[in-house]
Amino acid sequence: MSTVEATHRFFDEAARALDLAPALERLLLTPLREVQVQVAFERDDGTVATFLGYRVQHDNARGPMKGGLRYHPEVSPDEVRSLASLMTWKTAVVGLPYGGAKGGVCCDPKELSQNELQRLTRVFVDQIHDIIGPDRDIPAPDVNTNAQVMAWIMDQYSKYHGHSPAVVTGKPVELYGSAGREAATGRGLTIVCREALAAKGGAIAGSRFAIQGFGNVGSWAARLLHEAGGRVIAVSDRKGGILNPEGLDVAALYEHKEEAGTVTGFSGADAITNEELLTLECDVLVPAALGDVFSPELAREVRAGMIVEGANGPTGPEADTVFRERGIEVVPDIFANAGGVTVSYFEWVQNIQQFNWSEERVNGELEQTMVTAWRALRQLAADQGVALRTAAFMLAIGRVAKATALRGI
Ligand code: NAD
Repeated sequence: MSTVEATHRFFDEAARALDLAPALERLLLTPLREVQVQVAFERDDGTVATFLGYRVQHDNARGPMKGGLRYHPEVSPDEVRSLASLMTWKTAVVGLPYGGAKGGVCCDPKELSQNELQRLTRVFVDQIHDIIGPDRDIPAPDVNTNAQVMAWIMDQYSKYHGHSPAVVTGKPVELYGSAGREAATGRGLTIVCREALAAKGGAIAGSRFAIQGFGNVGSWAARLLHEAGGRVIAVSDRKGGILNPEGLDVAALYEHKEEAGTVTGFSGADAITNEELLTLECDVLVPAALGDVFSPELAREVRAGMIVEGANGPTGPEADTVFRERGIEVVPDIFANAGGVTVSYFEWVQNIQQFNWSEERVNGELEQTMVTAWRALRQLAADQGVALRTAAFMLAIGRVAKATALRGI
């Protein structure tokens, strides 16, 4: 099932539970604006490359729209549309004053030099600069885009509109980025693990974690869970996985990964496959790599006490039903991985205030945002007798619907 269909199914379930009027449901599902542009530039060898770029702005009832920008050969209007709507729900769940957007350029960045990537980025900004902006739509890094790409976007946009650091987030710390942004999604996820375990009478200390993916989200989550006394028994990346039932030495593992480029081959652990990692007996399973990880069959084999979704869309509706039937709690992506967009919001606030916060302040505000959202989510799930994912969509849709009604149509 595609991400679009999965998002619609989760949305529909929550909309039914909220008894949303069909006209409002249609309004909330329809993107505000979709733009497709030509991204043409001269390659290093003098030939001309032409790609398609997209920006979908889903909803702005609660504030300027916010969402990442990805460079990938599989970027399509459908995918961007669905990810844009997920951003609307994600920002609403954690109570950020934003709507949702997403964008991308359909290209293979591996085939482009650094100079070509810069030209592509600047041309893309030339094409969309009049629809983005600090008070309109604020892009951020996503698949294959990073702090350097954000710096180019800020620079190019500023040529049209004057000095505008708040037009993008995820910038380098040396150029209006925020302290704490790199670790933010993993840190938010660690807070979520702590709260979700505590709700069941448990704690991070002594619990066993299996983490799929050891990139930004997975490696930070592993380090912070380990620091909090958790036993990270297994991790994996695209080359395979490793297991040590006693708990991995995560600091040493991180060094190994920095040198070897992969977690595989780490001494003091046994090799396992990615599928084996997903079916290990553990207290918390954290998918932090890619979408659509659990087939319904695989979901029946999972032996984790709980799943906390670091990645976007790892669980489709069928697998989600299996987990519900089997009593495995799933803390959904739109809440569990919202630490990143939350600190992006703090970056935007600092840019507008022209005042830098300390890392302690960023982490403290992140803690407060995640815990407040968790309490609201848990309360709603308990009151309505629904799963956390349904509660998250209900909370988000309810907030966006209320803002829409208050503003007037
Ligand atoms: P990343 O590129 O830094 O890391 C991805 C990791 O997944 C790598 O270790 C890679 O080797 C691994 N991986 C890829 N294919 C795999 C496979 N088949 N099996 C096991 N591992 C595999 O990406 P990231 O920024 O850590 O993002 C991971 C997920 O979290 C994505 O779904 C992303 O959309 C989501 N997310 C990221 C952020 C953020 O702030 N970075 C915020 C919210 C959501």
